[in-house]
Amino acid sequence: MQKRPFTSKEKLEEIAARFPTPFHLYDEAGIRRNAEALKAAFSWNKGFKEYFAVKATPNPFLIQILREYGCGCDCSSRTELMLAKAIGAVGDDVMFSSNDTPASEFQYAHDMGAIINLDDITHIDVLEKTLGRLPKKLSCRYNPGGVFRMSNGIMDNPGEAKYGMTTEQIFQAFRILKEKGVEEFGIHAFLASNTVTNEYYPQLAKVLFEIAVRLKAETGANIRFINLSGGVGIPYRPDQEPNDIYAIGAGVKKVYDEVLGKAGMGDVAIYTELGRFMMGPYGALVTRVINEKHTHKEYVGVDACAVNLMRPAMYGAYHHITVMGKEDEPCDHLYDVTGSLCENNDKFAVDRMLPEIEIGDLLYIHDTGAHGFSMGYNYNGKLRSAEILLREDGSAKLIRRAETPADYFRTFDGFDFYQTVLKDEQ
Ligand SMILES: *Cc1c(COP(=O)(O)O)cnc(C)c1O
Repeated sequence: MQKRPFTSKEKLEEIAARFPTPFHLYDEAGIRRNAEALKAAFSWNKGFKEYFAVKATPNPFLIQILREYGCGCDCSSRTELMLAKAIGAVGDDVMFSSNDTPASEFQYAHDMGAIINLDDITHIDVLEKTLGRLPKKLSCRYNPGGVFRMSNGIMDNPGEAKYGMTTEQIFQAFRILKEKGVEEFGIHAFLASNTVTNEYYPQLAKVLFEIAVRLKAETGANIRFINLSGGVGIPYRPDQEPNDIYAIGAGVKKVYDEVLGKAGMGDVAIYTELGRFMMGPYGALVTRVINEKHTHKEYVGVDACAVNLMRPAMYGAYHHITVMGKEDEPCDHLYDVTGSLCENNDKFAVDRMLPEIEIGDLLYIHDTGAHGFSMGYNYNGKLRSAEILLREDGSAKLIRRAETPADYFRTFDGFDFYQTVLKDEQ
C-alpha cells in the first residue's frame, strides 16, 4: 500500500514559515478517527477502557484529545503520573504499570488514586511498607516465559523480558494479596511488541483469560479486569497490511465468550494500554534537506537528527520517507538520509530508493507519533524540536515549543551562561 502524508506540501511550507523545521506534526483528525474506532471495536465489553501509554507521546494537548473518548493514562514514572494528574486524570483513570519502581513512586501513584500494577512479587512487601497497608484494588503483571509465537511467523521473547511474574509467582501473589485484604484484582501482560497482525490480542487474551479462570478457582480472587496492555502495531513499511481494530475486537470477544463467559466471568472488564496504535501513524517528523554529499555513498543531510527520532539509530527501525511535492516521481536514486550527530548511526534511512532530492526539499518522515519525540535526548548539544498540532480545521497550533540554548544550559546552577553567550540570543 502506498503511504501518503496526512497533509500537503503547501500546508507544510505554510507551517514551516511560522515554525522552523525540524518539528513533529500531529494530525488531530486521524487521532480522533482512530480513538473512535478503538472504542467502537470494544464496545461489546461494558467496562472497556484504553489507558493511553503516556511514554509514547507525553504531550498533554494530545492526551486531552484521547480523554474525550474515555481514555485514561498508563504511566510508569513520577513525571508521567504528574502529567496525567495535570490534565485531570486521577483515580481509576490512571494505571501505574511500572517496573524497578522506586517506593516513592508507589506512594505518589497511590496518593492520586491510581490503580497499581505490580511488576514483581517482592513489590507486595515494598508497597505494604510504603503505604502502611495495601490498596483494596491491585493488578499483577504476568510473564509466562518462553517464546510467544503467532501463525504468521511473528514472535517475541517473553522469556528474555525483565517484566512480570512467573506463573507460580502470580498464583502466590494472588494468595498473599487476598490474605492481606485486597478485594479487587487485575491481570496484565505485554508479551509482544509492534505486532502487525490481528491475531496478537486474541491470542494474548486467551492466555490471560485462561489464567484468570484458574486464579479465580484456586485463590478465590475477585478478578475485575484484564489488561491486554500495548503491542498492537502499525505498518511502518508500505508492504505491511494495517491491523483491523474491528477484527481484533471481535477476535478478543470470541475468546472472551469461550473462556470467561463459560466460566461465569462475563463481567470482567477489558483494559488496553496502547501507545503506538493510538498515535504512531498520526505524527510525522518534518525536516528540510540542508546538505548533499557525494563520497563513497550518496548522502542527503537534513536539519533533524537522531535526537528527534531515535528509532532508526537504536533499533534499525524503518520509517518511510516522502519527499514532499515529489510523491509521484520515480524512486530512482539511492540515498542515505543523515542527521548531523557525530555518530555514524545517525541515519533516518540507509540505501533508500527515493526521488532525486535537492537542497531545500521538505522530507516527511512517517509514523513518528509514538515513541518519536518522546525518546528524544540532547546529545551533541542538540535541542528538542517543537511539536505542532494540525487541527481539524486546517490550522496549526504549537503544542510544545522548540528548546532554546537557555533551556539546555538551565540546569548548571551557579554558572553564568547569560553574560557570556545567552545575552545576545533572542
Ligand atoms: C510501552 C508500554 C505500552 C505501550 O506500548 P505500545 O507498543 O506503544 O503499544 C503499554 N504498557 C506498558 C506497560 C508499556 O511499557
